[in-house]
Amino acid sequence: MAVEYVCKICRGHLKVKTSIVLAASKMNSSKRGLVFLDPEIGNYTKTTHPAFTIDEGAEYIYTCPICHSQLNSAKYNHLVRIIMIDETGKEFDIYFSDIAGEKCTYKISGTDIEQKGPDSKKYVNYFEVPEEDRKYL
Ligand SMILES: [Zn+2]
Repeated sequence: MAVEYVCKICRGHLKVKTSIVLAASKMNSSKRGLVFLDPEIGNYTKTTHPAFTIDEGAEYIYTCPICHSQLNSAKYNHLVRIIMIDETGKEFDIYFSDIAGEKCTYKISGTDIEQKGPDSKKYVNYFEVPEEDRKYL
């Protein structure tokens, strides 16, 4: 069994062949298109059609191309969540930044946090702070 990525809402498969496929739209803009992400955690290659270029530093809304649900986290500002299922069937929450150019990924299972990317310090306190203190962030 290969590593799979599914939508947090409909659990539809987001990984097709060698890419995670998401729909993205630039915040406060009509620019939208499909984004192909590398399923390897820590690889920040994004592929889009030349008609839809990703602007560094801009914020994007990511949606599931199957059910059209918004994947941006309602709980963690600037993070997007999808679900990873590893070779053994274990599930992880995968979070990445909705700001283009920010390189950070968090792989969460219960209280286990794995962080990747040069910008991962930026949001890691979302996950390290005890639940009762999160409202002060
Ligand atoms: Zn979906």
